[in-house]
Amino acid sequence: MTGIETKQHIQQRYQEQLEQAVILASRHVKEGKVASYIPELAKSDPNHLSAAVVLMDGSVIAAGNTQTRFTLQSIAKLFSLAIALADHGCEYVFSRVGMEPTGDPFNSIMKLEAIKPHKPLNPMINAGAIVVCDMVKGNGCEERTERILSLLRKMTGNPEICVNHAVYLSEKNSANRNRALAYFMKDSGVLTGDVEDTLDFYFRHCSIEVNTQDVAWMASVLAADGAHPVTGERLIDERIAGICKTFMVTCGMYNASGEFAIQVGIPAKSGVAGGIMATVPMQMGIGVYSPGLDEKGNSLAGVKLLQELSNLWNLSIF
Ligand code: GLN
Repeated sequence: MTGIETKQHIQQRYQEQLEQAVILASRHVKEGKVASYIPELAKSDPNHLSAAVVLMDGSVIAAGNTQTRFTLQSIAKLFSLAIALADHGCEYVFSRVGMEPTGDPFNSIMKLEAIKPHKPLNPMINAGAIVVCDMVKGNGCEERTERILSLLRKMTGNPEICVNHAVYLSEKNSANRNRALAYFMKDSGVLTGDVEDTLDFYFRHCSIEVNTQDVAWMASVLAADGAHPVTGERLIDERIAGICKTFMVTCGMYNASGEFAIQVGIPAKSGVAGGIMATVPMQMGIGVYSPGLDEKGNSLAGVKLLQELSNLWNLSIF
């Protein structure tokens, strides 16, 4: 391209490159394994792959099966954390949940008993996120769920975002591991509220349904330090948005966060349904989806796609 590249040209170039990256990554969709420990998730089509990018001027670029809807799962943990931090401040929240990566799988129970006091190591593993949910203010799980839905609707501009009831019930009815974590933490005084109510909120917020475009909008707000990139409305405090992005780098891809930081180099948070939310500070929000997971529980083709985009657009923040 010669001379000054117009906005339209830039968008067109991004669109073509995103489509190309989706084609390349789609070669890997069959290598992943769809999560089945939540039975409803096992119904996802392993061939699906989609990606969306929201630039800071609000332009949206999307490619692949963009209409496919999926549940946030662990991506939601960032937003319950943002709300708990706004409700109580850092000092209180981090007196109950740590800030350190674990090197263990997201649902591991091992370190919870080994470390004294038994506070979970960070808010991105299940135990930590359950404690965070315990801290979100609200009259029961309905009101707590409404609070996070309201935040996500504002971030995405999509008033229809809501909980997928079938996934919520499926998770609630198969959550032996999460119940074990929660009751252990109640026994050791780490959880203070009603265990079942807190778990119910946790399951509901993991079951919030979105598409990749919604996820890209959420990521764009984090990219803009917590303000909506188009309207400028402050949705998350700047300091809290910074904390969220830091956790995305250190713990967002679980025990693959180090490898991801080297290979892709941008803050990202994955969910076991196959979504990944990635954010490039002051540049763009990215949402990707493909339900086949690698052995650490991250979308396999989704990671490949982000790797491709990072190389193509030189996105690494490091
Ligand atoms: N809801 C899922 C669980 O509790 C979230 C885990 C994930 O996305 N990694 O197991």
